Amino acid sequence: MKKILLSEKDMPRAWYNIQADLPNPLPPPLNPATGEPITPDMLASIFPMNLIEQEVSPERWVEIPEEVMEKLLMWRPTPLYRAYNLERFLNTPARIYFKNEGTSPPGSHKPNTAIPQAYYNREFGTKRLTTETGAGQWGSALSFACNQFGLELKIYMVRVSYNQKPYRKIMMEVWGGKCVPSPSGDTNAGRKYYEQNPEHPGSLGIAISEAIEDAVTSKDTKYSLGSVLNHVLMHQTIIGLEAQKQLETIGEYPDIVIGCAGGGSNFAGISFPFVRDKIHGREVRIVACEPASCPTMTKGPYVYDFGDTAETTPLLPMHSIGHAFVPAPIHAGGLRYHGMAPLVSRVLVDGLIEARAYNQLETFEAGLIFARTEGFIPAPETDHAIACVIEEAKRAKEEGKERVILVNWSGHGIIDLAAYDAYLSGRLEDSTLPKEELERLIKNLEKFPRPR
Ligand SMILES: *Cc1c(COP(=O)(O)O)cnc(C)c1O
Repeated sequence: MKKILLSEKDMPRAWYNIQADLPNPLPPPLNPATGEPITPDMLASIFPMNLIEQEVSPERWVEIPEEVMEKLLMWRPTPLYRAYNLERFLNTPARIYFKNEGTSPPGSHKPNTAIPQAYYNREFGTKRLTTETGAGQWGSALSFACNQFGLELKIYMVRVSYNQKPYRKIMMEVWGGKCVPSPSGDTNAGRKYYEQNPEHPGSLGIAISEAIEDAVTSKDTKYSLGSVLNHVLMHQTIIGLEAQKQLETIGEYPDIVIGCAGGGSNFAGISFPFVRDKIHGREVRIVACEPASCPTMTKGPYVYDFGDTAETTPLLPMHSIGHAFVPAPIHAGGLRYHGMAPLVSRVLVDGLIEARAYNQLETFEAGLIFARTEGFIPAPETDHAIACVIEEAKRAKEEGKERVILVNWSGHGIIDLAAYDAYLSGRLEDSTLPKEELERLIKNLEKFPRPR
């Protein structure tokens, strides 16, 4: 079978909350001023209480509200494909399956959480949301979701991507969102950088600071984050839960589950249901892929750090290369983040998953192989996961092993064609984080407590 399809009636009805199964509990976020754990009410100025409750929920299964189900059905369940052409090209005994999250209206996995976040905000009485976006996928996903639920939206978009990817901004505007390049002159957090350098490339960290400042200083406004947080990762588990059902119908179980990781949400989405199996004794390898230029999990220590550059968020227990880090302007904008989802970091520390880093050029080479075999053009972020798939398929060949590989195909690259153009015309470069720079960034974190 080329496509393994799930019928609408078989779509999972609840999200999976891995907090219920962790062998070691998640260390709490800390108040940077006191070093004490954050209480849920301290988050109430930026998030609605119903989502804060999800953030700290110990429940294993959280039922998906009917209205959210209805919206998710606009594109879900997503198809699982067997990558026969890629297998043949690589001449591998591995069986490769990819879960195509590029079939949603904005073209990535991100509306899986944008839809429920817009829904819970509307239920709570929020009228307007603010957010940041890297490559623009999150901004466009939330714009789509806010449009579906009648909310206003302002998006702070990392400038380097705003300039590289004008079509994302147009998508946001088609769905009614307002998008400005960050650092902008609209907030104190942005002006600081903007006035030094109006062409400052920006970073997700700076854009987060701007969006939070806007939310806390505006009426009936909340902030929405597209990754990193516990409830976001939980909303994404629909990917892995569907994939489990799909593989079950053909009697397969993966030996390796692969996803790319920026803030960690699509990776958690496909992998956490399998991490659950692994906690309960099943053998499965789970690999998170990141850029060598932003090597959070492969080079960063497990520390408490700020989630944003302007030091406005609580301290989060995660792998970090320091909140002052401004990543190289690689095209995988969604992977340019200094930190990692605390839940992903936790399972990495506990040895339940592994992490690998890839250089920009090898990821585009992998993406091109995929497009020239399976046809679909992957997002530059997704290319990192594909580089790992190819590496694993080649290893299976060398070892003569029939491995089953499952990968989250997190989004399409149709709006990132300028990046492919740069690659094809030889204008792309690799960049790695110099050791001295990394050491300097990490040294700044020594003043914070260590998570245990
Ligand atoms: C945003 C994005 C990512 C990275 O974000 P995560 O939260 O780590 O999933 C990966 N792939 C695509 C296509 C994206 O849009």
